[in-house]
Amino acid sequence: MSARLDDYFTARDRGALKKRGITSVGDLFRFFPRRFLVPGEKTPLGGLPLGETAILQAEVISVDTRRMQRRRGTITDVIVHDGQQSMKIAFFNQKWLDSQLLPGLTVVFAGKVEEYRGQLTLNSPTWLNRDEHDVKWTPEDLNSPFPVYPRVKGIAQARLWKAIKILLDVADPEEFEDPLPKVMRENLDLPDLRTAFDDMHRPRTAAATEKAKQRWKWEEALALQAEFVSRKADYAKLEATPLLNVGAKALRFDENLPFTLTSSQVTAGEEISSDLGQKTAMHRLLHGDVGSGKTVVALRAMLTAVDSKAQAAMLAPTEVLASQHFASIERLLGEQMALSPLLSDESQVRVALLTGSMPARERRQLALDLATGQIDIVVGTHALMSDSTMFDNLGLIVVDEQHRFGVEQREALRAKAGTKVPHTLVMSATPIPRTVAMTVFADLDVSTLDDMPAGTKDITTHAVSLADHPQWLARVHELLAQTAGRGEGGFVVAPRIESSDIEDAETEKVEHHLGVIDLKERMENASELAGLTFGLLHGKLSTLEKDRAMREFVSGDIDVLVATTVIEVGVDVPRATMMIIHDADRFGVAQLHQLRGRIGRDGRQAICFLLSGRPEVDESFDRLRAVAETLDGFVLAEYDLDNRGEGDVLGASQWGGSSLRHLSVLRDAAIVEAARAYAEKIVSVDPELSSIPALRAFINRVLPAESAHFIEAS
Ligand code: ADP
Ligand code: MG
Repeated sequence: MSARLDDYFTARDRGALKKRGITSVGDLFRFFPRRFLVPGEKTPLGGLPLGETAILQAEVISVDTRRMQRRRGTITDVIVHDGQQSMKIAFFNQKWLDSQLLPGLTVVFAGKVEEYRGQLTLNSPTWLNRDEHDVKWTPEDLNSPFPVYPRVKGIAQARLWKAIKILLDVADPEEFEDPLPKVMRENLDLPDLRTAFDDMHRPRTAAATEKAKQRWKWEEALALQAEFVSRKADYAKLEATPLLNVGAKALRFDENLPFTLTSSQVTAGEEISSDLGQKTAMHRLLHGDVGSGKTVVALRAMLTAVDSKAQAAMLAPTEVLASQHFASIERLLGEQMALSPLLSDESQVRVALLTGSMPARERRQLALDLATGQIDIVVGTHALMSDSTMFDNLGLIVVDEQHRFGVEQREALRAKAGTKVPHTLVMSATPIPRTVAMTVFADLDVSTLDDMPAGTKDITTHAVSLADHPQWLARVHELLAQTAGRGEGGFVVAPRIESSDIEDAETEKVEHHLGVIDLKERMENASELAGLTFGLLHGKLSTLEKDRAMREFVSGDIDVLVATTVIEVGVDVPRATMMIIHDADRFGVAQLHQLRGRIGRDGRQAICFLLSGRPEVDESFDRLRAVAETLDGFVLAEYDLDNRGEGDVLGASQWGGSSLRHLSVLRDAAIVEAARAYAEKIVSVDPELSSIPALRAFINRVLPAESAHFIEAS
């Protein structure tokens, strides 16, 4: 006999369960209580939420039934007490309760909290006498926690609980097949699956329940790491062409480099070269702070590829970024950049930019040049992945801003490399905290740039509340005028294009927030800025207009560029030494740091103002202060992780769609790391996980379908 949800729930119930993600008995077993009421511990009656459902535990003081005066029927008043204060609970036409809710009993009540004559009360709540409900209590069990489940519409807590308990008794043995291998459970002193389910749904002691909760974390950590380790093992089988030849191009580049590499650039370079020399494909992440010099490292790798007679492609998420990368490469290569497909000497490199907005004719020519090997390095957007783009011999892909590209897109590009797989270098624009790298990017090898080129950053940052100090705006403008007077440029950034009125959720005050269009106009008319020239840059402009604005700003034709966050990544304007960010509280920490990274790039003293319409006491101001206090992107990344909750962190990644419910990237780093070691051991002896089918099934269950690698054997 196999137990099914249908046996215990009506079609309507099952609809409600489905909304909570429960479609099978296994799902129901994993529908865990939100919290536990510990006997002896009374629920404080003072803090019950009016108008909401509350589950509370209290001692019965008295019970009294009387006839109602104006209507037929009876009312039973039960007075309960939490040790501090009492509350009256009313039941209608349930006279029999007189003999049930006896004074001295501790009872759990669940019902909507209402107000009657100025007092909080429950009307005919459901209740459970924990001293005699259907669990076989032992004296010790009187100290067992009482589960409180998340609400499922239309299914009372008591009924749901009862169904779970019955199903636990009658379910098929398969339901209890354990994704955690026995050795691991024994080493870590974790309960097996069946015991752990019992400890959640029929908890005996708080300690046992705590152990069960640990188990769910380990299960998820192992699933995550087994998937990563296995994926990594599969990468390691992908045949690639070794690209070890350091030839004329890389040598000339090294010779002409106007600076010495930082030690982490050297190390990263060595790690990458060593990967490129293998017969299997590199899958490496390169990350570091803004300005740490990732482009140089990536370009050096691409030159090695080209010296080895292969092509390299650099993939960027937006056209602005692709153009910026192209410009950076152009600048770094200088005269080494070939101006035509015909090389005048062997050390020259042919680089092209390919974007969606290119004229069709040019694009066709470029496609031809790529397919015939007349181009060595191509920088581009998604257009690189279109069917019309073919390569002669693609050896290396550099993916910028990995999280914006899905795995599928990477695969599409990889498919262009023919029978062999290109090496892949993933670049992240922001530094990634170790715990995140271990969870989100754990299928990649990691190179970290953790030191900065000497003397490149000298930025002072001020967080300014215009609510508290409105007069500061004019002072900031005066500074901007002085900056322009020295021939230096200033960015002015705001979150939106059009101005809008936004109601503050807390104060309910409507505030006017300036968009960049109006902001520019306002600055043009400000007396303290008289004589300055302004440009505008935002996402709704055409590529041509954007390019022009950037060019004019770079050349110094305009003093001030008023822009939205399109300038966030990659944009590099050495002459820009000032940045004013309006409504800075609307940006995240990482974004502010990114934005600020656009200035002070050539060693000149730079200054950044984070302006906010919020008062200094406002919580949002803490973030601004944190950004003002340090230039270290790693410190800020950790700050962000601590303060922002990991949903946001993981949400941006391919794991955003996972249903990991118990594991915390923040707090469970130790578990994640230890699980990695177990996963490596398991996958090395049993790559298909055929000896632990329950683990394989669990992986498919919790990891998003597109990224789950193990296909459940059916
Ligand atoms: P990011 O890591 O933000 O992409 P970039 O690669 O754009 O950083 O480098 C930022 C700036 O620093 C560029 O102008 C680059 O030429 C310069 N740079 C890179 N490495 C060094 C170095 N070792 N010494 C001095 N300047 C460097
Ligand atoms: Mg860069």
